[in-house]
Amino acid sequence: MTLFKDVRSPLSYWRPYSMKSNLSRRVAALQPSATLAMAAKAKELKAAGRVIYDLSLGEPDFNTPEHIRKAALDAMDAGYTHYTVASGLPALKEAVAKHYTAKHGLNYTAANITITNGAKHALHNIFTVLIDEGEEVIIPAPYWVSYAELVKLAGGVPVIVSTTQENNFKLTAEQLRDACSEKTKCLLLCSPSNPTGSMYSGEELGQLADVVLEKDLWVVSDEIYENLIYGDNRFVSFATVRPGLEERTVLVNGVSKTYAMTGWRIGWSMAPAAVAKKMASLQSQETSNPCSISQYAAIAALEGSQQCVADMLAEFAKRRDFCAQRIAEIDGLSCPVMGGAFYAFINISKHLGRKYGDKMIETDTDWCLELLEKKGVAMVMGSAFGAPGYARASYATSMENLEKAFEKIEEFLS
Ligand code: PMP
Ligand code: GLU
Repeated sequence: MTLFKDVRSPLSYWRPYSMKSNLSRRVAALQPSATLAMAAKAKELKAAGRVIYDLSLGEPDFNTPEHIRKAALDAMDAGYTHYTVASGLPALKEAVAKHYTAKHGLNYTAANITITNGAKHALHNIFTVLIDEGEEVIIPAPYWVSYAELVKLAGGVPVIVSTTQENNFKLTAEQLRDACSEKTKCLLLCSPSNPTGSMYSGEELGQLADVVLEKDLWVVSDEIYENLIYGDNRFVSFATVRPGLEERTVLVNGVSKTYAMTGWRIGWSMAPAAVAKKMASLQSQETSNPCSISQYAAIAALEGSQQCVADMLAEFAKRRDFCAQRIAEIDGLSCPVMGGAFYAFINISKHLGRKYGDKMIETDTDWCLELLEKKGVAMVMGSAFGAPGYARASYATSMENLEKAFEKIEEFLS
């Protein structure tokens, strides 16, 4: 069984002798997103009648809250179904700016903000605008699957720095300093992290910021899990930890995870005005505005009651505790402390290099594929996040699904 479908049609083998290569060098090595590919595989098996416990995709299983859906209906009825400003509605930019001022004391205005087609699109914009051919972007591993690919698409060079489970998968200031070269342009941070769920304290971010200032780097801080924080952890926005960081930081966020709005495709970036201006130009040429109706829904999400966020968080917290308990109970499994987001990054290395039935399983990829095949549990292989020997479970799924999935994992391992 292979994860990625072979998409070559018989026609793609046919090429008249005079024809040049079809694909640009930029995309030749591009892989599909492993998270989306695994989710597609799970859906395919489900459609074929298999019972599947799907822990593959990081997307809230809740419906988008009612007042947000209603705002979208109202927007359509009011005729807000046309182009907006390419970089997003001024009212939505205001709502985003207000949020950052109220919550983090950051003084961004509409001139700093670009509303995008999801946070993923914001990342694409940022790398296109910031990175020149050959410039390096430091990415701590484990990393979210799309980072390195988006950097490469922009002509940049991802420099992957591995972190350890002992240090809760956090990059240290020393590691950052060692990874810098003449060509380093930017550091990419994701806290709380996809895929590990670990998060940096304000103090740890401050130590990284000192190196950032010393080495004159930019920072892209992906803060999309800002509102999914557990226990005593406190979220700190990178731009706030030292004076002067706003000038060299691009913050990424959106409504996808906080408000269960993955399908609406609204994210944003907050950057120095000159950078934001170029992102707006890029967007005006590439995509025009994100969906107008979704933008109105996002305003309602940011400005309406936040009770829905608290309710979803309470549910995620129960699931997180359940996963932590089950992982600790199952022999040979472990995971870092889950401070935020909705992922358990499970160390499966003690269960590799052994037989399952009569099949030898050596790698996390084979382990995940075998688990899916034999027990119907879908997780994403750690290798896709630059961390072989691990498997990522998303607990953005029902408790019932999680209970069943861990039963099946236990069966699989014994
Ligand atoms: N950043 C991280 C860390 C993510 O996990 C995701 C997952 N969707 C994104 C960005 C992209 O979010 P969106 O769906 O808004 O594009
Ligand atoms: N970010 C989610 C995940 O990691 C959604 C999938 C994606 O956008 O790649 O599962």
